[in-house]
Amino acid sequence: MTQQNISIEFFPPKTPEGLEKLRTTRAKLAQLKPKYFSVTFGAGGSTQKGTLETVLEIMREGHEAAPHLSCIGSSRDSLREILQQYKSHGIRRLVALRGDLPSGYGAGLTSGELRYANELVEFIRAETGDWFHIEVAAYPEMHPQAKSPQDDVQSFVRKVKAGANAAITQYFYNADAYFRFAEEARKAGVDIPIVAGIMPITNYSQLMRFSDMCGAEIPRWIRLKLASFGDDAQSIRAFGLDVVTELCERLLAGGAPGLHFYTLNQANATLDICERLGKTSAATAI
Ligand code: FAD
Repeated sequence: MTQQNISIEFFPPKTPEGLEKLRTTRAKLAQLKPKYFSVTFGAGGSTQKGTLETVLEIMREGHEAAPHLSCIGSSRDSLREILQQYKSHGIRRLVALRGDLPSGYGAGLTSGELRYANELVEFIRAETGDWFHIEVAAYPEMHPQAKSPQDDVQSFVRKVKAGANAAITQYFYNADAYFRFAEEARKAGVDIPIVAGIMPITNYSQLMRFSDMCGAEIPRWIRLKLASFGDDAQSIRAFGLDVVTELCERLLAGGAPGLHFYTLNQANATLDICERLGKTSAATAI
């Protein structure tokens, strides 16, 4: 058994049914003994209350939890208030991001006082010292708005120098992109863990939609195979399980320090992958 840990991401539920479903999902995933659960945060106030409520519920169940915090569309004062609130609740971990303006906000929401995630990390450190363990985002296949892959690595280095403790990558299905990015970051002086973000494959059209938005590439052979299954959800899931499990195996064998699962509040796909990886309820690490 190695020291490679898993972490698990949720979004805050918007309806009472969603809340109940997330509780069931969490109960199932808790058996994996994740290092922590993280909860996403919407820019412009869309899910911010839900983020804190979900984090507090997870902590009451005895797990470590990390709210995501994005700076786009926010003032320093509002971020300061959130940080103090999190601190007063005993939250010790944050995923710090620039965020994206939600579509439809248009002119109503300005880009805020901090432009990039490195400025947010600096701000958190200036306001709260070492209170929070800070994770930042990394993009093995380049962030869609970056000028070049080299520029994107430099942006990542700035976040690390500003005080990040660890990073989580955007999801990807090409292990080589991860290994190359990690190597370039190391050469640029980064020595924090870069945890691989994993998106289980369960739904073809949803995956294509997300990937178009975030710039994660679905390799042609995976895309064609998924498309060929049409509405056959069982075949999509079975193929997705094979592909993502093999990806995780390669990442772990190649030295990835951990896996962060984007669960979309669903338990089964993540559970199936972890079971295939040999992570049973008795294990504490992969
Ligand atoms: P940054 O690191 O600031 O980078 C954004 C872009 O700006 C990049 O192209 C970068 O290369 C460029 N850049 C950075 N610094 C400079 C500079 N000084 N000059 C010029 N260009 C620069 N979004 C949410 O809204 N809520 C969430 O909860 C959330 N959770 C996420 C969790 C993970 C693990 C990941 C990987 C992403 C998450 N996102 C979330 C999405 C994220 O907010 C978007 O990808 C966003 O577009 C970029 O955020 P960032 O923190 O990576 O930004």
